[in-house]
Amino acid sequence: MMAQNDSTVVVIGAGLTGAVAALELAQAGVSVVLIERDACAVNRASLRNEGKVHLGFVFAHDQSLATPRLMIEGALTFRSILSGLTDGAADGLIASTPFTYLVPEDSLLPPNELERRFAAMEAIFLGRMSDEPDLDYLGTRPDRLFRRTTLAALSGYLGTSGMAGGFLTDEVAVDTVALASIIRSAIAAQPLVRFWPCHRATGIQRLKGGFRVTGSAVQNVDPGEAWQVDAAQVVNVTWENRFLLDGTLGIAHPPGWLHRLKYRVIARVPDAMRLGPSVTMVVGPFGDVVQRSDGTAFFSRYPAGLQGWTHDVAPPAAWEAPCRGVLPADQAAAMAQAILTAIEPWYPGAAQAEPIEVDAGAIVAYGCTDVDDPASGLHDRTRVGVESHDGYHSVDPGKLTTAPLFGVRAARAVIGRL
Ligand SMILES: Cc1cc2nc3c(=O)[nH]c(=O)nc-3n(C[C@H](O)[C@H](O)[C@H](O)COP(=O)(O)OP(=O)(O)OC[C@H]3O[C@@H](n4cnc5c(N)ncnc54)[C@H](O)[C@@H]3O)c2cc1C
Repeated sequence: MMAQNDSTVVVIGAGLTGAVAALELAQAGVSVVLIERDACAVNRASLRNEGKVHLGFVFAHDQSLATPRLMIEGALTFRSILSGLTDGAADGLIASTPFTYLVPEDSLLPPNELERRFAAMEAIFLGRMSDEPDLDYLGTRPDRLFRRTTLAALSGYLGTSGMAGGFLTDEVAVDTVALASIIRSAIAAQPLVRFWPCHRATGIQRLKGGFRVTGSAVQNVDPGEAWQVDAAQVVNVTWENRFLLDGTLGIAHPPGWLHRLKYRVIARVPDAMRLGPSVTMVVGPFGDVVQRSDGTAFFSRYPAGLQGWTHDVAPPAAWEAPCRGVLPADQAAAMAQAILTAIEPWYPGAAQAEPIEVDAGAIVAYGCTDVDDPASGLHDRTRVGVESHDGYHSVDPGKLTTAPLFGVRAARAVIGRL
């Protein structure tokens, strides 16, 4: 048994949220042990996602606009938080062409209603920027976020059959591989962060004046030697394992959470498709294409890419391998073909794209039904944030967009108790 007594802070989970929390604490002079089951930081959902820094358009069905408002807050602080923690290295992360939003005829909201809600989001965005001159969207301060376009204008490069409308937007995606690499370097360069890779946390116990985190070493995914570390405060940022670890400390969450396993395909696009717009279809279970400047694109598509759905406290062990990018070649090829051919009708050229990588990520949210249900909880992503219990902080960042924001808030919750 490896044991360490420490009066420091333990952060469990080195995704983007945990890394930001640890780096922010270290910048404030707090010593941190950052525990991660994988061999490197930012190897799970924060790497294997679409990279979109949301401005709220996807969440237009949230009539209160609380979800778009939260996304805008995350989007307007994303660059400055990450740059402040990485000596400016995170300044140039934009990797995609701007998003066009396609509205299918069976969208939950028609184009006129979407236009009204997009305008309200734009007003929120512009209001926040005028309140705080230091805010920016990935280094830019656009004076508008979208404009409606015609299907005729889109039909030169997108398939518009079955579509009811479209919008051009200023929304973009970042390069998650570059982001992961910058964050890993920042962790390595920060002497107050001790990074413990290959450490899986399995339990947390409250002690007099602190906590004990226990776990096992991970080597080739087999449980290895047991370890434990004591800490004055603990931050749990383990995404799809958060409820499980909270439970070991006796913290119960209200029912209704949902874990979904979503696959993505990264592929090299044919010349005819290259540098076309990135596309998201709204509102419903449709799909996305993110066109990147290096000639590759991200593809995701419902229902082909949605391969897991559970209300269990944590996803089954079978999700582990694809979430680390480990997939048998035949399964990867079949998944790529299913997703790319399903996208071909609305993004011509997709079926000719050459798959480079197929992997998956877990999505944690609250909801009982899918996004085609107008009453689905998945339209509301505001049940997130930092939940503190006397020195134990459990953090759900909700999205990549809001991960830096909630990583910083978690660090502030810790500092507030020191
Ligand atoms: C396919 C897909 C597309 C997405 N697209 C977008 C998008 O375009 N825009 C957007 O804003 N969001 C998107 N998201 C959501 C986004 O990826 C997540 O909200 C975000 O990355 C979560 O960050 P995190 O740091 O909490 O989680 P993670 O990055 O998963 O980090 C959690 C870390 O905890 C570690 N861990 C877990 N359990 C343990 C344990 N027991 N012991 C030790 N370590 C542990 C994990 O290995 C991992 O490194 C997408 C998600 C998916 C899956």
